Parts: sequence; structure tokens; C-alpha cells
Amino acid sequence: SATQRKPAFQKPRKRKRKGQRKGDDLIERLATRFPGVLFDVLSSRNPAEPPAARTSAQPWWCTCQKCQEMPTEVEKKCCQQRPEHCISRTAHLELFCLEPGILRLARGLRHEYLGLDDLQDPGQDNKEFRHAAYRQFVLWQHGRLRAGQRVVIPSCCVWRIRDTFPDPTGNYTGFIPGLL
Ligand SMILES: [Zn+2]
Ligand SMILES: [Zn+2]
Repeated sequence: SATQRKPAFQKPRKRKRKGQRKGDDLIERLATRFPGVLFDVLSSRNPAEPPAARTSAQPWWCTCQKCQEMPTEVEKKCCQQRPEHCISRTAHLELFCLEPGILRLARGLRHEYLGLDDLQDPGQDNKEFRHAAYRQFVLWQHGRLRAGQRVVIPSCCVWRIRDTFPDPTGNYTGFIPGLL
């Protein structure tokens, strides 16, 4: 028939305010509903943060042999497993945090919930994937966080995610503690 296909679910009838996507009210909503994502939002607000450089030396605080040196003390976190059991190499991490189909669903749900525009700058795609992967990791490992609760993702897992969805310029923002 000539009837138009209906979307699978209706978008909330809410005006989207372009240009306010990272505004304070959004941050506040994120802090209440998705405290784990704050680190992404706050990170993206601080482009002056020096990029995390990749080095070959194994940091002293790493037992799994997959971590990289990190720019701040709070980010120097290992999964604390032996190399053969490093969390960054598990099938679960690959499924929850690296599988593009899963991440696209998570991104779509979040955009739907927050009323964000779906339009994405193509150059932002890997960044969106990385941030979705970080959120998936936090949900998987810690469940839903309480407001104000912050967690640090182990370096090995951060780098597995970065290597899968690299930034073309190698410019990664890090963890910024204490802003909530
Ligand atoms: Zn490690
Ligand atoms: Zn590890």
C-alpha cells in the first residue's frame, strides 16, 4: 500500500534546542540519570587537556601487561588480572564494548531518551563509539551508578576501546576527577 511506514517507536514530542546539546541542563540531566557518562561530557568540555601519549614501557602499576601509561594518577588503574585473564581481552568486553551493532543500539537509545539530534558529524563517529563503549563498560562492570559516583575504567580496557575506535589525530581526553 501507499501508507507510510511508521517508526518503530514515537519520538517524544519535545523541541530540540540545537546549540544547547552540551548545555548545563543536559549535564544536570545526565548527572541525575546517567552519572557514569559525566566523565565523557566533562572531558569533552576540556580540550586543553593534554592527549594521552602511547608508550611502549609497561607501567609499574599494571599486572595484566596490557595497560599504558596514563596522564593522571586517578587513571593509572589496571584490571589487576594476570595477562591471560586481562579484562580487555575477554569475550564479554568484545561483545558489550566493541561490537558496533550493540554500540549503535546503545547510542540510539540514549539519543532517544535525551532527545538529542541523530545528525552526527561523520568525523565524530569513532568518538561516539568510544564514549558508548565506556558507558557500556561502566554498566557492565558496575551497574547503574548513583548520582555523583565516579568510576575509572582500567587503562587496558580504555586502550582496547581506543584502538578499536581510534581518533584520527590520536587526541584522547582523559578522566577529570572531582567535578561533580
Ligand atoms: Zn594492566
Ligand atoms: Zn588488563
